[in-house]
Amino acid sequence: MITISFYDTKPYDKEYFNLINEQYGFTINYFETKLSARTAKLAEGSDAVCAFVNDDVSAPAIDALDKLGVRLIAMRCAGYNNVDIRYAEGKIPVVRVPAYSPHAVAEHAMALLLTLNRRIHKAFLRTRDFNFSLNGLTGFDLHGKTIGVIGTGKIGAAFIDICRGFGTRILAYDVFRNNEWVEYVDLDTLLKESDVISLHCPLNPSTRHMINAKSIDKMKKGVFIVNTSRGALINSEALLYGLLNEKIGGACLDVYEEESELFYEDNSTAIVKDDILTRLICLPNVIVTSHQGFLTGEALTNIAATTLENISEFFADGSLDNQTLLENSKKLI
Ligand code: NAD
Repeated sequence: MITISFYDTKPYDKEYFNLINEQYGFTINYFETKLSARTAKLAEGSDAVCAFVNDDVSAPAIDALDKLGVRLIAMRCAGYNNVDIRYAEGKIPVVRVPAYSPHAVAEHAMALLLTLNRRIHKAFLRTRDFNFSLNGLTGFDLHGKTIGVIGTGKIGAAFIDICRGFGTRILAYDVFRNNEWVEYVDLDTLLKESDVISLHCPLNPSTRHMINAKSIDKMKKGVFIVNTSRGALINSEALLYGLLNEKIGGACLDVYEEESELFYEDNSTAIVKDDILTRLICLPNVIVTSHQGFLTGEALTNIAATTLENISEFFADGSLDNQTLLENSKKLI
């Protein structure tokens, strides 16, 4: 019987994993706590560990799991910037879910953009109070605007398809020009010409803080920035400055570079010490969601199915079809 320890689990994880696990019959121990070197010992007796985007899968945690005899780390997400895959190599294989529903994240990116641009979140609060004033709710037509998409992989491509329906001009930037239906330009042109910039590339050393004071300087005044990828693609201090001096017209953030201690938890009675996030959230032209782009029934079903299949295959015959790609990260560093 294979035992798996799940870290950072929420009720929706249990619901979907328990359902899919009926086909596999694994023993699953769900922990609410995040994985770290300190909490790794909870996995004692487990064959595999299942972790998520804000778990700390750095070298000390990998060492701790290795000492306990854990044989596989199964990430139940696509991104793996929180895993030291160089260090894990030769110790514990790491698998992930490369695709589960690009539409879930792309649709969330568009939902954020429409919500912020048309002030739907403000209108909802107003009308609940029978305040039917429209003052301050003016948005802009997306039709005819230029949308810059950085990263044209699975989610970027789905976002581009959605944008086409709005009659927008789409500019794309990617290190690999992998979408034949879109106009690729260099990054500077995209920054200069876009009314909306949406980020869909992974976080790695070459993309960390790709949106910074210098790149913001090159953007159009009033640009909207949408980030559903990873928080550290944006230097948050530069973003805040750009919003305060009105260079940036709006920010739609599903991710934040210092999210790991805050997101997915109810901090409503805590004194949040992160001044940048606090100021961002207070601005009328910023909308923050708690890394929920993936949160659809379809995506959760696919995540559970692929994760448990990754684990099943590994313990059946050592297959690692969805292993995290060290050679890719080497290329990018
Ligand atoms: P993908 O691998 O299909 O596509 C990523 C694209 O980024 C590729 O085309 C790649 O060539 C490109 N890229 C890599 N480095 C680049 C660079 N320096 N500049 C420009 N482009 C670059 O990945 P995907 O499935 O589309 O996911 C994209 C990202 O979305 C993930 O890495 C993850 O961080 C994020 N994500 C977020 C959520 C969420 O819930 N908000 C869920 C899933 C994924």
